[in-house]
Amino acid sequence: MRLLVAALGLGVLAGCRRGPEVIYLTGFEGVKPAQLTLVRRVLQDFYHRPVRLLPRQRHQAATRCPVRHRHRAAAVLTQLQALLPDSTDGKILALTVKDVEIENGPRQPHWGVMGLANHAGGNACIVSTFRLGGRSDRLRKVSLHEIGHLLSLPHCRSGTATCLMQDARGRATTVDQTREMLCADCRARLAW
Ligand SMILES: [Zn+2]
Ligand SMILES: [Zn+2]
Repeated sequence: MRLLVAALGLGVLAGCRRGPEVIYLTGFEGVKPAQLTLVRRVLQDFYHRPVRLLPRQRHQAATRCPVRHRHRAAAVLTQLQALLPDSTDGKILALTVKDVEIENGPRQPHWGVMGLANHAGGNACIVSTFRLGGRSDRLRKVSLHEIGHLLSLPHCRSGTATCLMQDARGRATTVDQTREMLCADCRARLAW
């Protein structure tokens, strides 16, 4: 009995201590399990946070743009945000094989992108493999970049071309110039 009480006490203590924020990871239809495993591992190793897999998701017809037939990334982020067990705790990343777009000002209302993070107070981001040319190194880097936004990192202004937080401006070649590292400025923002 005493043992049981002691164990319960420990459980309460463990529950009170806040660990690092969890990153939730999911894939839309068509994403391979190996891709989820790869991204899970890289996020865990790079950001030192637990990464938990959520059940697979399906794209909703309502998030599809009728003009270019891509999914509107911002609408998908709203869908993902609702999946978070607690909206104030944790981040969520979803992988998709579908092309996604953003509204990039009035001149580019349908701008195809590799990923998008809701960094205006949101906790969701998406990475599309559509523009990555089947390259797993790009998938790793774009995933790290988008989660970086959710951890409050803006685009890099230090002039370090190899920093992960470079603004790719929709080009995979910019991603190729980066390495899996953050420059000193970006690290300082994360308080590393
Ligand atoms: Zn940087
Ligand atoms: Zn970015």
